[in-house]
Amino acid sequence: MSFQSLGLHDRILQATDDAGYSQPTPIQAKTIPAILSGRDLIGLAQTGTGKTAAFTLPLLSQLVSSNHDLTERAARVLIIAPTRELVQQINQSIRTYGKFTNLRTAIVMGGASEKHQIEKLQSNVDIVIATPGRLMALMKDGHCNFGKLTHLVLDEADRMLDMGFLPDIQAITESLPKRRQSLLFSATFPQQVERLAKTILKDPHTIEV
Ligand code: AMP
Repeated sequence: MSFQSLGLHDRILQATDDAGYSQPTPIQAKTIPAILSGRDLIGLAQTGTGKTAAFTLPLLSQLVSSNHDLTERAARVLIIAPTRELVQQINQSIRTYGKFTNLRTAIVMGGASEKHQIEKLQSNVDIVIATPGRLMALMKDGHCNFGKLTHLVLDEADRMLDMGFLPDIQAITESLPKRRQSLLFSATFPQQVERLAKTILKDPHTIEV
């Protein structure tokens, strides 16, 4: 199995090549074609399996491939993750895998300057990576425009629920455009994650590794 056979855009393949990845991990081999097909997805995988690239590679590929008018730039992808560390890690991965694109990211998380994050959000970014608490606060104050959003990712959903973020996640997702592709990743699949998945995803494909 090669990255070339999965349907990713050339500029993304250039980045996996540059990162020295010779072949996709099992979760990447399964999720990348499913995400590129546009379907909603539940991915059950632990960290260390290549899970971050499993969703960032196809999302970046979709953004590069879409004929989006860059003069009307707006946030199209929102990734929600439980911790600041994970948000920064995802941002770093996107910088690596998006190296040969001109896609721009903004980080929204507690413990860092709110003013700076608001300025960044207003500077025409394509991808927002956020923890639920700070994102909720900035949305309430009208600092986020997700009217053009096409993709939502909930990473480590089980951990977010353990941390008590369910009300924030529900409020955030309720205000997003209904026509979108949604992806939910979780290491475990207890009932409360299943319930959340039912309210957020449409006819999802489930992939377990
Ligand atoms: P993750 O599970 O997303 O935290 O990824 C774990 C580590 O695997 C990261 O350091 C990635 O850089 C690396 N990685 C992800 N995909 C691949 C791949 N296809 N080949 C080699 N390394 C990879």
